[in-house]
Amino acid sequence: MNRRHFLKTGTLAVMASGLVNKLFAFNSSQKQTGFGPVTCENIKAGKDDMKVLFLGTGAAGWKPGGNSPRRNSSILVEDKFLIDFTISVEDMLPKNVHPKEIFYTHSHADHYQPERAVLLGVEKVFLSETWIERARENFKAASEKTGKPMPEIVPLKLNVPVKLHGLTITPLAANHATNDYNEQTLIYLIEKGTTEDKLGVRLLYATDTGGIMGRASRSAGIDTHKSLTTPRAITAFVMESTMGMGHDEDYRMFNHSSSEVVSRITNMLIKTQRYLPPKGQPVYITHMSNSLHDRKSQEEINQGLPVPLRAAYDGLEVVFKAVENA
Ligand SMILES: [Zn+2]
Repeated sequence: MNRRHFLKTGTLAVMASGLVNKLFAFNSSQKQTGFGPVTCENIKAGKDDMKVLFLGTGAAGWKPGGNSPRRNSSILVEDKFLIDFTISVEDMLPKNVHPKEIFYTHSHADHYQPERAVLLGVEKVFLSETWIERARENFKAASEKTGKPMPEIVPLKLNVPVKLHGLTITPLAANHATNDYNEQTLIYLIEKGTTEDKLGVRLLYATDTGGIMGRASRSAGIDTHKSLTTPRAITAFVMESTMGMGHDEDYRMFNHSSSEVVSRITNMLIKTQRYLPPKGQPVYITHMSNSLHDRKSQEEINQGLPVPLRAAYDGLEVVFKAVENA
């Protein structure tokens, strides 16, 4: 039984035993009440829904093989394309899925490994225009080393959407520095079925970033300055929580977020109706550090999180359902 299968089966068993309900009953005593059971896991995606598979949910520093191993953070969207890809998540790709595109958030090695992308047979990679020359050199070297064809490298401009596989992917500014001071790290808004009068699915996938940048929130439509923006709620939210609860004063705060930060952003978005998820759909945290969640197990992390936060795990498949009302 591979690990992904094992995790899925494990989750089903937990759900069957009603433990999930108990976890949320525990959590609901904290801030909001009545979250109820999770409704977006272990279900089949309808044609308007968006399927996301978490290949990895860890920050750099995890060594797979421990009690609760996490790989480098990476997702597979609709079985079609990847956001970030490293050697650590290769075993999590479903056997029958061959993604041809990767969107990169930034060039840190726990997100970006050109050689692995080339070996995977990826045909197109999308990354910020701010480091495109360096990326070209990296991919050229990877292609020469492996003897595999070099993918097309597509420069992304902030807030300029790309259409792919029936989805609209908009790169937004993240608050996250690399050693290349010109590099702009990206987070992504991924939309499916969004029209003037229908929200569809509007997923904000935010890693790596310290908080959400003002211009990103404005572009995504979740800025709460009513006079300045055209408000547009998101319907799904995945955000990094490098730091767990109780680590709000960690020095990584300039570049990363804590569970408290994700919780505060979530509560504000709910209060201002900028986050309109289907009932029973949590906000998922990802990019969890090994040490800054106090090496807690998946269950222990979930128990300590305020509603509606929930820790993603490697191999978790989530179906974000389309939302009608705009
Ligand atoms: Zn990083």
